[in-house]
Amino acid sequence: MAVKIEKKIVGYQVLKNASPEMEVVEAPAPKPQEMNEFIERPDFLLGSTYKVKTPVSEHSLYITINDIILNPDTDHEVRRPYEVFINSKSMEHFQWVIALTRVISAVFRKGGDITFLVEELSSVYDPNGGYYKKGGVFMPSLVAEIGAVIEKHMKVIGLIEHDEMSESTKKILAEKKAEFEAAHNPAGKQDEEAKESNPFPDNATLCKKCSTKAVIVMDGCQTCLNCGDSKCG
Ligand SMILES: [Zn+2]
Repeated sequence: MAVKIEKKIVGYQVLKNASPEMEVVEAPAPKPQEMNEFIERPDFLLGSTYKVKTPVSEHSLYITINDIILNPDTDHEVRRPYEVFINSKSMEHFQWVIALTRVISAVFRKGGDITFLVEELSSVYDPNGGYYKKGGVFMPSLVAEIGAVIEKHMKVIGLIEHDEMSESTKKILAEKKAEFEAAHNPAGKQDEEAKESNPFPDNATLCKKCSTKAVIVMDGCQTCLNCGDSKCG
């Protein structure tokens, strides 16, 4: 805007911050996005489907977990579970299965630490008793089975750390197993088929730590041949 000066100029002052170059404003680095319920579902999500065979239902369960990638192509890129679906030919548990998947999906999308779900689901016990899976793992219920799949998935995408056993521990356990078998089953009679469904000795008992039927007693000590948990005396 032009201003006509009608009087004599008797003094002047330079305006502060008049030019944009003088103002040094550092743009704050954008915060990495975290999972929250307001993130709109993208049209495309990466999914993994796990097939689960259980003795409590006639047909297999197919558990699909879809993941969302947050902060793609940055240092803060993370993959987080976004939703879960469960499908089966036989849907005798239809109602509660649908309800459970909706609640789990909602927890996924709320953000924060969601790994607690695994523990909660895994500690659900079926009043009719649980069952043993291949490898001698005890599954206390169908809900726990869903929890085990979610745990597996969280390990795959790096949300839960793998607790890998060291090679030396594996070797010691393999030696113990061989020694125990030699002492209790000298003829090595356990047939191959039984061995595949349960790699641990027939008379092994259930381990409280890893829920596997793999605890043997040797030299007065209870030792789990699966996770190495040991108690003496
Ligand atoms: Zn164990």
